[in-house]
Amino acid sequence: MNFNQELQQELDALQAKGNLRQLPALKHDGRYVTVGGQRMLNLSSNDYLGLAADVALRKEFLDTLTPETFLPTSSSSRLLTGNFQIYDELEAELARLFGAEAALVFNCGYHANTGILPAVANAQTLILADKLVHASLIDGIRLSAPARCIRYRHNDLAQLERLVHENAGQYHRIIIVTESVFSMDGDRTDLRRLVQLKSCHENVLLYVDEAHAFGVFGPTGLGCAEEDGCIADIDFLVGTFGKAAASAGAYVICSHTVRDYLVNRMRPFIFTTALPPVCMAWTLFVVRRLSGMNARRQHLQSLGRQLRSRLEQQDYSTPSTSQIVPMIIGASADTIIRAEHMQRHGFYALPVRPPTVPEGTSRIRFSLTAALTEEEIAAIPL
Ligand code: PMP
Repeated sequence: MNFNQELQQELDALQAKGNLRQLPALKHDGRYVTVGGQRMLNLSSNDYLGLAADVALRKEFLDTLTPETFLPTSSSSRLLTGNFQIYDELEAELARLFGAEAALVFNCGYHANTGILPAVANAQTLILADKLVHASLIDGIRLSAPARCIRYRHNDLAQLERLVHENAGQYHRIIIVTESVFSMDGDRTDLRRLVQLKSCHENVLLYVDEAHAFGVFGPTGLGCAEEDGCIADIDFLVGTFGKAAASAGAYVICSHTVRDYLVNRMRPFIFTTALPPVCMAWTLFVVRRLSGMNARRQHLQSLGRQLRSRLEQQDYSTPSTSQIVPMIIGASADTIIRAEHMQRHGFYALPVRPPTVPEGTSRIRFSLTAALTEEEIAAIPL
């Protein structure tokens, strides 16, 4: 067998299990997508606040630009000539909004999560990570070798507490790694309890990924840490701009010293061309408006409650407490059939299968946005 034949054999095995992934050819039209000639309501977008589908907002932004200020590339790493002023403005604004010492912006959440941990961990570090953290964090943990890592059961903070108390004396540093809103289950972790646990030991740090919470939770949309009043207690508060903020990129909120250290040590920060300044300008434009979007946030949470109660009425148990609402079906093949049924009825819901989720928990993952209506949620053929 040659190389291509070997790969094909693996692909065929994935297909036989219903786990083959293919890039969908789709056309976007605001809240709708057209796939294979069929126009469907998009129930699988991370555009949580509906800002990516908001043409009026884009017009307002475009009015601020001229051919001279529309800068489509930074042409360089930030450490060379790519550090346009807009980066500093965005970071200063983020630090101000979060009431923190510093912020550092990255090209995406994947870079943040694969770069921060390897930069700060060493052989005397123990990483304690929730079993369900995102693949980007898992890759970051892998790149952190020789640091040791133990994964605790999902949201089992009693197990985490035991692990911390048992190991705090053996390691120079422990880093607890979690998401605030989990990307596949849509449930939340108890940040206050994590902060309390951290306060018992001097050498415990907290790393929280708020990718699915930034813009969505908190009185001014800064995330769950804002809602729980614990921004200052989190050492690495990470979020992304590709979801509720309708842009691209990611940030960490941290101390001045951590920021300086990452600038010197974090490879996905150092060895990449910085995002285009126009992208940063759009991010800043959106970030400045997030605090005024409580009506969208409340509508989004109400849609989530409505969908969860519809699922419960049909005897689905869903772990969700957010705008991410999984309908857990089990077998991949059944999940695909159910997703296709919804699509035929005009609702673009997508199956999520292993390895993204554990074997036997294939699901339809509804990812709601504030641009949807109650009538639309009521009409989903569950
Ligand atoms: N963290 C979480 C929890 C995510 O779900 C994702 C992507 N969906 C990322 C990080 C990666 O962010 P980005 O898409 O900006 O690379």
